Amino acid sequence: MGKGTLVARLLERDERLWLSRSWTTRPRRPGESADAYNFVDRPTFEKRIADAGFLEWAEFLGHLYGTPTPDPPHGLDGKDIVLEIDVQGAEQVRARFPDPLVILIQPPSRAVQEERLRKRGDTDEQIAKRLALAEHEEARGREIADHVVINDDLTRAVDEVAGILARHRNPGGTT
Ligand code: 5GP
Repeated sequence: MGKGTLVARLLERDERLWLSRSWTTRPRRPGESADAYNFVDRPTFEKRIADAGFLEWAEFLGHLYGTPTPDPPHGLDGKDIVLEIDVQGAEQVRARFPDPLVILIQPPSRAVQEERLRKRGDTDEQIAKRLALAEHEEARGREIADHVVINDDLTRAVDEVAGILARHRNPGGTT
C-alpha cells in the first residue's frame, strides 16, 4: 500500500484533517477512482497556472500535478490541510508558507515500491522511470522533511504519522 492509502487511513482517524484534491493532466488509470484527482487536459491546467490558481504545481514524469488554491481560502473551519504531493511540490510549499509540517513517506525498499506500482497497474516503462527518479527524490526529500516515515506496515506507519501530528499540535505533550 502506498502513501495514498496511508493518507486515506489518516483522514478516517482524524477529523481535523482536510485533504486537498489535486489537479492532474495524467490520464486516469484503469480502476482508479474518478475523484482521485481533478483530471483535466493540459490547456485547462496551463490556464489555471496563468491565472495563479495553484498553491504549488510540478511536472512529474511528463504530467502536470498541482494543488488548487483552496476556495474560499479561509473556509476550512480551522482544519489542517493535507497535501499528498511530490518532493518538488513540497519544496515550493516550504518556500511559500511559514511553517508547514513536511513528512517524507518512504517505501521500505525499492523492491516493495516496484511491487506496489505493479499491483496498481503501472506499465514497465512507468515503473522503470519512477524507480530511477526515486533515489533522487528521496535525497531531496530528506533535506526538506521534518520527519521521515517508512511505510512498511500500514497500521504502524499511520500510527507514527498520527503521533507526529499529535506532538506537532501539542508540543508540551501533557494533554
Ligand atoms: P501519481 O501519478 O502516482 O498519482 O502521482 C505521481 C506523483 O505526483 C506522486 O508523488 C504524488 O504524490 C504527486 N502528486 C499528486 N498530486 C500532486 C500535486 O498536487 N502537486 C504535486 N507537486 N505533486 C502531486
